Amino acid sequence: MLNIVIFGAPGSGKGTQSERIAARYGLLHISTGEVLREHIARRTKLGIIADSYISKGQLIPDDLMIKVLASVLDNEPAAAQSGVIFDGFPRTIPQAKALKIMMEEHNSKVHAVIGLEVDENCLMQRMLLRGQQEGRADDNEETIKQRLAVYHQQTSPLREYYIAEGKYCGIDANGSIDDIFARIARAIDALPNL
Ligand code: AMP
Repeated sequence: MLNIVIFGAPGSGKGTQSERIAARYGLLHISTGEVLREHIARRTKLGIIADSYISKGQLIPDDLMIKVLASVLDNEPAAAQSGVIFDGFPRTIPQAKALKIMMEEHNSKVHAVIGLEVDENCLMQRMLLRGQQEGRADDNEETIKQRLAVYHQQTSPLREYYIAEGKYCGIDANGSIDDIFARIARAIDALPNL
């Protein structure tokens, strides 16, 4: 059983690589961004609240986001058997601490954090391209700038947090999707006790 967090700036390729990791290692892929976008599309109460933050490039508040993740995990009993790739959660230190407690409650833990490290100037281009190709509402220049600022302020400290926990595996995430995935797979295969 393997639980992985994929971590990186917006546009670093978390979603694309998570799908590949999930397929290769038989993990359940939980993308909190996708969960929220589904709620927005269905115009649920959570979706309406989430949209007001996402459209401004801000994070959903921790207390709400932690409840959302807990409910996703509770509704996925298979997660405990298969293991999970967490894509987009945690995004703050309080979320990381909450995830640790949630995993302990399921007699489990995060085994490794895959950190996708990309040159800053690539990120904007990748997200503008994704906006054109996939029509993601938050992939416009103004919102992207805000998301990058939020990443630097609130999310990037997680790198140090997980280094201190001995779980951080930094991956050079420049280059082709295939090359990046090969680097990730090498790092996962080298984890102890797998
Ligand atoms: P993503 O698809 O991971 O890029 O997420 C899109 C947006 O959803 C983010 O810019 C946030 O506004 C929101 N979001 C996703 N996951 C979280 C989280 N763990 N905490 C707070 N906001 C989140």
